[in-house]
Amino acid sequence: MARVSAYPMVQVGEALETILAYAEPLDVETVELTKARAHILARDVAADADLPGLPRSSVDGYAVIAGDESAELEVLEEVTAGRLGIAHVRRGSAVRIMTGGTLPPGADAVVMVEEVEETDGRALLQRRPRRGENVHPPGMDLARGQLVLARGTRIGAAEVGLLATVGCARVPVYRRPRVAVLATGDELVEPHETPPPGSVRDSNRYALMAAVEDAGADIAWHAHARDDEAELERAMRQGLAVADVLLTSGGVSMGTRDLIKPLLETMATIHFGRVSFKPGKPLTFATTTDGKLAFGLPGFPVSSLVTFEVFIRPALLKLASAE
Ligand code: AMP
Ligand code: MG
Repeated sequence: MARVSAYPMVQVGEALETILAYAEPLDVETVELTKARAHILARDVAADADLPGLPRSSVDGYAVIAGDESAELEVLEEVTAGRLGIAHVRRGSAVRIMTGGTLPPGADAVVMVEEVEETDGRALLQRRPRRGENVHPPGMDLARGQLVLARGTRIGAAEVGLLATVGCARVPVYRRPRVAVLATGDELVEPHETPPPGSVRDSNRYALMAAVEDAGADIAWHAHARDDEAELERAMRQGLAVADVLLTSGGVSMGTRDLIKPLLETMATIHFGRVSFKPGKPLTFATTTDGKLAFGLPGFPVSSLVTFEVFIRPALLKLASAE
């Protein structure tokens, strides 16, 4: 007589809804700026001050008064980035200024160095500047209090730069999901090994680990277990202990060595054990009493990655508040 699965078949939509209903966003933590990359920002971040705070030159040149008609200008001093000068620019005078230098009081424009001839401390302008030319006014880049990054933003290189700019050195982020990956099967050997007759290399573990990291989660633990009840149980419990999510590969079909479902029953509540989905019908989803998610993925390499994409990736994104 054909064996019949004890698990009712659920539709894809219902399976996804069930998974997402149990995938509760993880808590917020604070990380150093150097560790913020690839996290999801947990709070809005605003500019702490005007940027620039003072008018600044955007070129190397000479700070002058735009309406000054003097034939020659006396160069009073030099202002470089980060050092405020002491001179006050009046008609007939100028201050040599470098990119990023603070505009001296009195000046209202900067003429590029390419358009000025300086000899013996006297500058000859080849062109009269417009008022405000080559000057970054205060608040031009960012105004104090302005929203810079919204909660839910994925932090990449540009976002790290913005966080640094506004002084957000300790960054509130959502904790990244920790995932345990367990490959099962007596026939599996490691990728560096030559499989003896009847064996295959374990590819699912490594493919799933890469998929987990692509989805913005971290690998907390990974292992291989043989199709042995005691060994599998030990490994599954170990994985669940250190992770938010356990992914197993293989052992969920109807074979006599398919032990994952009955073992999951002993440590978690199974919400479904069959989905109307090909490839990947035997996908199994369970949760533990302490809110951890366990997925039994099918062993065929294509099935395991396809079910990951359709069912597990959305769960990891929701845990990370990154939908
Ligand atoms: P199972 O679901 O355990 O019956 O496995 C179904 C098929 O997938 C079998 O041919 C297995 O050898 C293969 N398989 C299971 N696990 C892996 C794995 N980690 N890497 C590569 N193939 C696997
Ligand atoms: Mg197997």
